[in-house]
Amino acid sequence: MRPDRNELIRMLSLQDQDELDDLYKQAYEIKKQQVGTKVYFRGIIELSNICSKNCFYCGIRSGNPDFKRYTISMQEALREAKWCFDQRYGSLVIQAGERTDEAWVDFITELVAGIKELSGGKLGMTLSLGEQSEEVYARWFEAGAHRYLLRIETTNQELYKSLHPADHSLEYRLKCLRSLRKVGYQVGTGVMIGLPGQSMADIADDILFFFDEDVDMLGMGPYIPHQKTPLKHLVDSFDPELALQLGLKLIAVCRIALKDINIATTTALQALHPEGRELGLLAGANVLMPNITNTEYRDGYQLYEGKPCLDENADQCINCLSRRIASIGESIGFDEWGDSLHFFKRKQ
Ligand code: SAM
Ligand code: SF4
Repeated sequence: MRPDRNELIRMLSLQDQDELDDLYKQAYEIKKQQVGTKVYFRGIIELSNICSKNCFYCGIRSGNPDFKRYTISMQEALREAKWCFDQRYGSLVIQAGERTDEAWVDFITELVAGIKELSGGKLGMTLSLGEQSEEVYARWFEAGAHRYLLRIETTNQELYKSLHPADHSLEYRLKCLRSLRKVGYQVGTGVMIGLPGQSMADIADDILFFFDEDVDMLGMGPYIPHQKTPLKHLVDSFDPELALQLGLKLIAVCRIALKDINIATTTALQALHPEGRELGLLAGANVLMPNITNTEYRDGYQLYEGKPCLDENADQCINCLSRRIASIGESIGFDEWGDSLHFFKRKQ
């Protein structure tokens, strides 16, 4: 049933801590019934911080000259993927700034095929590489990727315009999401919450968009301002507690409204609170994306300030993560893809 817009706005507007706790509990019950309490890991490789786009909120936008650009070599990326496979993570995510040139498309095709080969087809693969043509999405799908994450960022046309240069288009992003579906990917999208000028009605409309587009996965998070962006004036007034609350509310309301999709608890939550990702699981998320990028590259991938684990290597992260997940009574789906149940139900 299509969620009721007023009810979404009501839930998103809750402020009282007891009422919020009830909301998280309600979402957790729905998660338990619909997708269970197993957490699926997708090790995330931040492959490159080179980006041809210039989104006003993002620390690695092309217009930020103040840091070194990198691209991880094929050999290094395959080594990280192998590490992920050996740790028995079911899947990985390859994320980077957006590039559409032929050399990049070929590089990704080869990398995806290489990861498929090294894991004997056992490692699930999600890509998050921005807007591409349908042909490129198809090439990467044929090479072995089967999920794609492309956040719509906001469905409010005016807000989208205020956060992007004139040549970035909401319509084109939507077209890309539909191409991904057509090619056969499990499609993930999402928005940022707490953007300047965004209302709870906007977020309710975003959730209705997720429902109408019948998405399989969501990766959403609070917006965190960055000093080296055109939105730097928001840094001083930024309230991390409020941003965390917004991020958790968004997860909970999406779980209540959309039921059986996969929802990620994102690093942005951890940047706001040491246990932010566990709180995300308790608010209804069921997917976690540990960072497996070699620490040498991590300070080059600062989308926002305060990004955690910059100097922690991936091994340390997995140990502390396993303990944290056990401490909230959940288990890890080792060696499992943990695909979206929603995707399979739609396919039936
Ligand atoms: N370039 C690809 C794209 O934009 O789809 C993938 C990488 S991009 C860094 C991944 C996501 O980071 C974006 O979809 C955006 O929502 C998020 N992001 C960028 N800047 C952010 C910020 N300041 N706070 C929170 N999330 C941010
Ligand atoms: Fe590039 Fe993605 Fe950042 Fe936009 S959000 S500037 S496309 S990396």
